[in-house]
Amino acid sequence: MNKQDIKKKYNKEKKLLLKYNHHYFNLDSPLVPDSTYDQIKSGLIKLEKEFPYLKAKKSIQDQIGAPVTKKFKKIKHSKPMLSLSNTFNTDGMEDFISKISNYLNIENKNYDFSSELKIDGISASLTYEDGILIKGLSRGDGIIGEDILENLKTINQIPRKIADINLPKLLEIRGEVYLGKKDFKKLKKNFANPRNAAGGSLRQKDPKETEKIPLKFFAYGFGIINPMIYKTQSEFISKLKEWGFNVNPYNILVNGIHEIEKHHKYIESLRSSLDYDIDGIVFKINDLSLQKRLGNTSNSPRWATAYKFSSEKAISVIKDIVIQVGRTGAITPVAKIEPVTVGGVVVSNATLHNEDEINRKDVRVGDTIIVQRAGDVIPQVVSVKLDKRKKNSKKFIFPNKCLCGSKIQKEFNLSTKKEDAVRRCTKGYDCSFIAKERLKHIVSKEAFNIDGLGKKVIDQFWKLRFIKNPSDIFELDFNKIKKLEGWGDLSVKNLKLAIEQAKNISLNRFIYSIGIRHIGQENAKILASFFKSIDQFSNILRKSNRDEILKNLNDLDGIGETQILSLKNFFNKNKNVEITEKLIKKLNIQDFREINIKGKLSNTNVMFTGGFEKISRSEAKTLTENLGGKVLGSVSKKLNILVVGNSKPTKKKIEKAKEMKIKIYSENEWYEFLNI
Ligand code: NAD
Repeated sequence: MNKQDIKKKYNKEKKLLLKYNHHYFNLDSPLVPDSTYDQIKSGLIKLEKEFPYLKAKKSIQDQIGAPVTKKFKKIKHSKPMLSLSNTFNTDGMEDFISKISNYLNIENKNYDFSSELKIDGISASLTYEDGILIKGLSRGDGIIGEDILENLKTINQIPRKIADINLPKLLEIRGEVYLGKKDFKKLKKNFANPRNAAGGSLRQKDPKETEKIPLKFFAYGFGIINPMIYKTQSEFISKLKEWGFNVNPYNILVNGIHEIEKHHKYIESLRSSLDYDIDGIVFKINDLSLQKRLGNTSNSPRWATAYKFSSEKAISVIKDIVIQVGRTGAITPVAKIEPVTVGGVVVSNATLHNEDEINRKDVRVGDTIIVQRAGDVIPQVVSVKLDKRKKNSKKFIFPNKCLCGSKIQKEFNLSTKKEDAVRRCTKGYDCSFIAKERLKHIVSKEAFNIDGLGKKVIDQFWKLRFIKNPSDIFELDFNKIKKLEGWGDLSVKNLKLAIEQAKNISLNRFIYSIGIRHIGQENAKILASFFKSIDQFSNILRKSNRDEILKNLNDLDGIGETQILSLKNFFNKNKNVEITEKLIKKLNIQDFREINIKGKLSNTNVMFTGGFEKISRSEAKTLTENLGGKVLGSVSKKLNILVVGNSKPTKKKIEKAKEMKIKIYSENEWYEFLNI
């Protein structure tokens, strides 16, 4: 398929999905079952991942609900009403907790979580001023809601007034409007399920119609509160009860994955006996100050996730186990299975993650297995049905060679101080499988962002030997491309233009695009701010300068031993140097430009040494940059403030800063200075 066809397919399905959203969220009358909807949505997300130019305007993942209709007055939410991230198994839940810890720089993963049933209803926001209900909105598209105050007022379980002498002046309560299963059965109107019935009844033009339906309300959260006086989610929930709201009786506090699993199983066993539909449990960090620090992604909060019930599983047989090679040389085993429909999608490949996973699960060719497709995640082999195993089955021996024929090895991880679980091919560009994956990385959205040169086109051009090295992208013979099936004049013209435009690239993007292991977008930015220009950066390509430069990088905030070793290994290979030099010659690489934000730290250079107790280095850095400051990696005349953390600060840096009369703050003094 050429770019135009892909765009056409994408736009057609996106349009369909938006239509389904409108019918589901606005008309409360879904046109298709949820599984069909989820299938189309995950297909679109997959397309966006493969062809990043598709999400140029807005990713389908950022679409919350549906744009509001003209039926009601539109009102902007004081705080967006977002979706929730979701997870389907223990690994996903553990991953969610690890991400929180990494973000907050907290090693101890024993957070208290407010565990709340995920009610399958319609969310609503209620605003109380001085205790009087003054505003009632639907979620709408998350940013703009519908004014459904009069309809909400018909629900008995929504108090019109709250009496509490300590009540915040402004209080926005969020919760779920739902219809009980028994009441749904009694309803004469034709709705597909209680959720649609609740939505349809709630958004009647005439509130008198809403009043006829016995809608109920569970309160579970808040939007804006002024002044904010609550410290934990559980404290807020007990306040909700005191104020007369209906709060789900199964909400409890849990701590640690063991309790989370136990509670999840317990609620799943109760699910069918409850009088309302639930589709999972929402786990929310209980400490509201941590919630605030974690903040949101574009479509969901980082501090909560929905642990859904019953992921979609199916049984199949492994026909073969093959390996795939990634751009960093990582070898991933993949099971080729008898095609089977899982959650409405035909699956014929399932990941086995790595060698340790295969050994742990003792997965063998010929085994009958359970395959799971959870949400948008790549299908995976969950377990083996040992009772179905054939007597003559043989243990799978993990290959000791890459597809290119060279040896593969496990690396020692400097940060975990353990051997990696993943085996890697170390041939770099000399392995044609890695080389092809690197090309795919180079053209990706975050790197050169070349429209029309997606993964599939790279595969095609690679096969035809049009492209071998990155610089070949800029020497393509468009006359040859024109002759290929599926390439019209227009698509060739667009590709030519996109490649021409891509030649102008910023230094940080360029560094990222080279594809050096451990140099992601953030680290590429740090390196770019250090080197400033491509001429300076090019010094690292010369052997005579390299060690000296690498030594200097040690001072950079965010660049550690792992990154330096990776840069060293990369440039110590002559082929990498050659390829990078050739690429540079084709480009117009722009100097790194700082973005100036006005704030408390405008024109202030800050440096951190030692680990902090309360926040991670990344959070400290973001905080500084958001306040207009710049983070430096070494003590110099330019430095204004040195912040010293408790854990292993570098004495030399402190002494040098003292000598140079630079302001020195401890972690707590730093927070005081920033007033946070
Ligand atoms: P989501 O899964 O992102 O969940 C977020 C919602 O959970 C919140 O808005 C809130 O209303 C609700 N919630 C319930 N209890 C909560 C609690 N204790 N704390 C916080 N939130 C709680 O949901 P979404 O974005 O509304 O919709 C996605 C779902 O809708 C998918 O399952 C999809 O299949 C379905 N859908 C189906 C169709 C169709 O045509 N069949 C169309 C669109 C969407």
